[in-house]
Amino acid sequence: MTNDAKRVVVVTGGSRGIGRSIGLRMADLNTRVYFNYSAADSTDAEETERLVEDAGGSAKGARVDVASRQEVQEFFNHIVKECGRVDVLVNNAGITEDGLMVRMKEEYWDRVLGINLKGAFLCTQAVAKPMMKQRFGRIINMTSVVGVMGNAGQANYVASKAGLIGLTKSAARELAPRGITVNAVAPGFIDTHMTADLSEKVKEAMLAQVPLGMMGQPEDVAEVIAFLASEKASYITGQVIHVNGGMYM
Ligand code: NAP
Repeated sequence: MTNDAKRVVVVTGGSRGIGRSIGLRMADLNTRVYFNYSAADSTDAEETERLVEDAGGSAKGARVDVASRQEVQEFFNHIVKECGRVDVLVNNAGITEDGLMVRMKEEYWDRVLGINLKGAFLCTQAVAKPMMKQRFGRIINMTSVVGVMGNAGQANYVASKAGLIGLTKSAARELAPRGITVNAVAPGFIDTHMTADLSEKVKEAMLAQVPLGMMGQPEDVAEVIAFLASEKASYITGQVIHVNGGMYM
């Protein structure tokens, strides 16, 4: 990267929650943040753009479904055309559609795997070529503590997050010769929209499993992402970094 070029960071699912925190943490004068989201007329996305700009950075959001190959390809083509490079990809977009496995509808399985796992694969494919050409890149996949522990009622989500760990390790091996690192971050129980709807009973049961006795904040995760995305993490690849208050050790 030449000294005058700005670092280009792409965060999927960056309109709120952990993704927004990552955009904010990365925001500085020398970074251009791009993010996507899925909701029509997203006020969250506008708010994220504003917050990043207030923090002295620049962020552009686009409505792009990560499960659509065509939308993903157009999104990255546009970024590469505008900036000439992509330095960091954070595959953060994710959803849940919970239910006991024996009763789980096939469409819930397909939807969660399509967004959480195939979405990360499509985005990784889209950035691999420009990153290989520039001989530098950082790819970070957002898995989950349940991807290594399992969780009743989340067979589809857990399968997608465990799959992301396999994708991380394979991509790390394939892309290492071109100076690209690929790692995964596995958050535990983080205070976002995704966990906001859980009943108090479920929250209490989850917290009972956390030695530090509290939920994590999106900023706790964003800090680790920022480190893995930095030059300082150049000798780390194919790893899963846990941010879970000790829930899994
Ligand atoms: P969140 O607040 O629900 O945010 C999810 C983000 O993903 C939103 O920006 C959402 O945009 C976007 N998104 C959803 N479907 C998409 C699609 N098809 N295409 C593009 N973007 C899409 O969730 P969060 O808690 O911040 O979670 C972020 C990541 O961390 C997820 O991968 C999640 O599995 C993982 N994680 C979270 C926790 C936790 O406790 N919160 C724990 C472990 C792992 P719209 O709102 O526009 O749909």
